[in-house]
Amino acid sequence: MPPIEHPDIRPRPSADSDEAQPRPLKAKVPGNPLCPCAEQQRLIEEVQRHLVLIVELSRAISEAVASRNENLTYELDRQVEAELGRNERALGALRQHRLDHGC
Ligand SMILES: [Zn+2]
Repeated sequence: MPPIEHPDIRPRPSADSDEAQPRPLKAKVPGNPLCPCAEQQRLIEEVQRHLVLIVELSRAISEAVASRNENLTYELDRQVEAELGRNERALGALRQHRLDHGC
């Protein structure tokens, strides 16, 4: 894969957004561009919490399967399904925030 030669990666307004329209939430937090706004940071950390839990649950399921503990396997599988759903929603919230906030 060739290196990316375009340093200008600023988000462009999407086709249906009118630049003339006021966008009160567009204000960016000044400072380190590598550091997202506080709300985005919170949403990122929420996604990461879900991912860590999914990893831990997956490991536990693997052990439950290996020890042929069917009840535990079923229960943990149910939990990881729920956690995947929460992660989907957290990712959706993060994506929506980035779109709304332009951060
Ligand atoms: Zn933001």
